[in-house]
Amino acid sequence: MTQVPDFRIQKCNDAAENPQGDYVLYWMIANRRTHWNSSLQRAVEWSNRLDKPLVILEALRCGYQWASDRIHRFVAEGMKDNASRLQKLGVLHYPYLEPVPDAGKGLLRELGKRACVVVTDDFPCFFLPRMVASAALQLSVLMEKVDSNGLLPIRWTDKVFLTAVSFRRFLQNNIEPHLHAFPKPDPLSEVVRPFNAQLPRGILEKWPPAHDVLRGIDNASFASFPIDHSVPPSPIHGGEREANRALKKFLQHKIDAYADCRNHPDDEATSGLSPYLHFGHISLHQVFRDLIDHERWPRNRILPEGRGQREGWWGMSRNAEAFLDEVITWRELGYNRCAHLDRYDRYESLPAWAQQTLDTHRSDARTHLYGLDQFENAETHDPIWNAAQRQLRREGRLQNYLRMLWGKKIIEWTPCPEEALNIMIHLNNKYALDGRNPNSYTGIFWIMGRYDRPWAPERPVLGRIRYMSSDNARRKLRLRRYLQRYAE
Ligand SMILES: Cc1cc2nc3c(=O)[nH]c(=O)nc-3n(C[C@H](O)[C@H](O)[C@H](O)COP(=O)(O)OP(=O)(O)OC[C@H]3O[C@@H](n4cnc5c(N)ncnc54)[C@H](O)[C@@H]3O)c2cc1C
Repeated sequence: MTQVPDFRIQKCNDAAENPQGDYVLYWMIANRRTHWNSSLQRAVEWSNRLDKPLVILEALRCGYQWASDRIHRFVAEGMKDNASRLQKLGVLHYPYLEPVPDAGKGLLRELGKRACVVVTDDFPCFFLPRMVASAALQLSVLMEKVDSNGLLPIRWTDKVFLTAVSFRRFLQNNIEPHLHAFPKPDPLSEVVRPFNAQLPRGILEKWPPAHDVLRGIDNASFASFPIDHSVPPSPIHGGEREANRALKKFLQHKIDAYADCRNHPDDEATSGLSPYLHFGHISLHQVFRDLIDHERWPRNRILPEGRGQREGWWGMSRNAEAFLDEVITWRELGYNRCAHLDRYDRYESLPAWAQQTLDTHRSDARTHLYGLDQFENAETHDPIWNAAQRQLRREGRLQNYLRMLWGKKIIEWTPCPEEALNIMIHLNNKYALDGRNPNSYTGIFWIMGRYDRPWAPERPVLGRIRYMSSDNARRKLRLRRYLQRYAE
């Protein structure tokens, strides 16, 4: 059987594996699923090689920026799915919800003392890379991180791509071998040894597993957690089962309208997969495999040389190709940048032409000026902008076209571009279920010129940054029902 390819695996420390340990430990921090998960597959490979059981620690901290009821509920719903599946398979799943900041400190180290090896997820964004690097130093056993993010392994190239077209061209000419090295759909079908022992009582008492919270998740309250309770749970539910439902619904009912209707808010023609992709409740590999099955696309198809063209290269339907361009080219473009540049979230990382033009127009008069509170409370003069912000606040989602308009107007209505950037990052990451992701920074920095080019005519405030208008949106888009729904 195919193993996880070496280029998806990185050693995080210099320690060796310990074959005398009691178990293989998988620290699940980003790929929060039991299917199509290269990290889990790698842990199972270790488990089989050493003939040791597998323990999965799935934890959620509470002291990170933007921690809220919304994120806690979504992640806990995913933990519940994992718990119920893993229990049936005899794999020890240790769900842990940190009750106060730093209470979880030491848990990984203690579990690591009895582990043969620790495997974790290689997610290139937010606080996760720092957390993994510092945890690895505290372990006296080998720790590996495994990349299960997308079709192109994030460390296949260290080139950082500056445009979507150059990245698309690279993908077209490099993706083929990776299409034959997918993770296993169900890596746990091969777990050999069930975990029959008990973890030490001292560990379980100091860091009690969250089984009770997960059992009562439908009515669970996170009131006792020191997180932001002003961001309530979303009506969108988390977990592998909901993710699969969303994918199925998309392929059965929506994809045939994707190319033409995805920009129209009333049509709801997009997949809704971004929160699930973000929290790892679904794998991009599964999305791709189900899509090609839906398309009846031959898996052994010989792919032509690519020039970076948006349509026609895969040889799939127009709708499928439009979707793949978002879910592969645009999505993985952001992962490429975050994996190789630390400063992906800094204003100074914008292209020089964009900084220059924004600087030239720094002192231009603004037609309207708003502060964070007014934006946050959807108190601008523009009904479309307010509707978009209300949807983001209430549901934690925002469709791509409106999201672009939302960002463009924040630049126009703030005193300076640095403040606009901070407001976009804050509102996006606070409210969006899919926030705090490489795509968050792709989208937000695209608003300010990254991956784009200078446009004419030069305008006030935006200079040569691409302009979008609410009047145009009103003319071009079907959004009557949308505006009614989010009128207040
Ligand atoms: C200002 C701004 C902020 C954004 N913030 C985020 C964010 O925090 N998280 C996030 O996942 N996306 C973000 N995006 C990109 C995009 O808006 C969302 O990915 C998309 O709307 C998610 O809805 P969907 O899953 O129904 O998308 P679909 O249209 O069904 O697309 C499928 C998948 O492709 C990827 N994708 C789609 N559009 C883009 C895009 N423009 N850039 C990168 N990947 C894309 C996503 O993973 C998405 O789930 C942002 C865009 C802008 C302009």
